[in-house]
Amino acid sequence: MIEVKNLTKRYGKITALDDISFTVDTGEVLGFLGPNGAGKSTTMNIITGYISSTSGTVTVDGSEILEEPKKTKQKIGYLPEIPPLYIDMTVRKYLEFMFELKRVKLPKKEHIDEVMQLVGLEKHGSRLIKNLSKGYRQRVGFAQALLGNPPVIILDEPTVGLDPKQIIEIRKLIKSLGKKHTVIFSSHVLSEISATCDRIIIIADGKIIADAKTGELSGVLTDKRQLLLTAEGNATNIQNELKKIPGVQKVKKTGEPDGASQFAIEYKPGADIRRDVFSAMTRLQCPVLEMRSGSESLEELYLRLTGSVKGGEA
Ligand code: ADP
Ligand code: MG
Repeated sequence: MIEVKNLTKRYGKITALDDISFTVDTGEVLGFLGPNGAGKSTTMNIITGYISSTSGTVTVDGSEILEEPKKTKQKIGYLPEIPPLYIDMTVRKYLEFMFELKRVKLPKKEHIDEVMQLVGLEKHGSRLIKNLSKGYRQRVGFAQALLGNPPVIILDEPTVGLDPKQIIEIRKLIKSLGKKHTVIFSSHVLSEISATCDRIIIIADGKIIADAKTGELSGVLTDKRQLLLTAEGNATNIQNELKKIPGVQKVKKTGEPDGASQFAIEYKPGADIRRDVFSAMTRLQCPVLEMRSGSESLEELYLRLTGSVKGGEA
């Protein structure tokens, strides 16, 4: 549905995007994750045709944004980081205004009613936008993006500044959108993205550093795997025996909990050494008190991968 190819964006000497490429399939909910300043908004602004790229191409449902800007834009509903709301309008007036602006060719009243219903604004049509809470304003931004039923919905940090209850509602909304639309949404919060998306792209410093299905991300990112073993018995013997197991790269003693010994066993990605470790301990007649994965959590990985890059502007 969306194809981004070799996108580069420079602002003077700053390279905001450095040759990024990815595709999004129809019906996919893609999370675009990265710290502040990573290039998320820049990417979204280019996909939606708000700004131009320095080089590279974006194709949405077969149309190229630069060649057919009008046609391509009609396929996308966009909720920018700062939604363009006219705060002196009522919710309904604003949506009618955006309906006209977007030249939507659907029955006006029915369609606006339907969209307001979808985002939970059905009782707020006559309220002035300036009197709405941040969460409700965000819903108006959402509604605006949904006008015309575009096949692609792009949301730039839609949950920033919302309280936990509102965040859960917005998440639900995004998930429900995924049934009918292709969705890209950005966030700098990992848990936000992993709770909502089928696939995650991590961007840092203008480069894509990971692109994987949500459940497979940590496997893709870790270059080494670790097993933590606690066992009773002669530590030197155990260590020597563990080192002989195929796939094991390094064995380090890390502590002596409860008079036993704890070892961190590093092994090659793809290997599964648990059975061999168990057999080795049985051979040595050393009781195993605990065996668990010592690999980094997804959260730790994300911080490690993005923490050392510039990031942190806000
Ligand atoms: P994100 O949305 O991930 O926080 P942005 O896409 O907004 O990141 O920004 C990426 C980089 O490009 C940052 O270093 C930012 O300072 C820079 N940048 C963004 N917009 C402009 C602009 N209009 N002029 C100069 N630099 C910009
Ligand atoms: Mg941004």
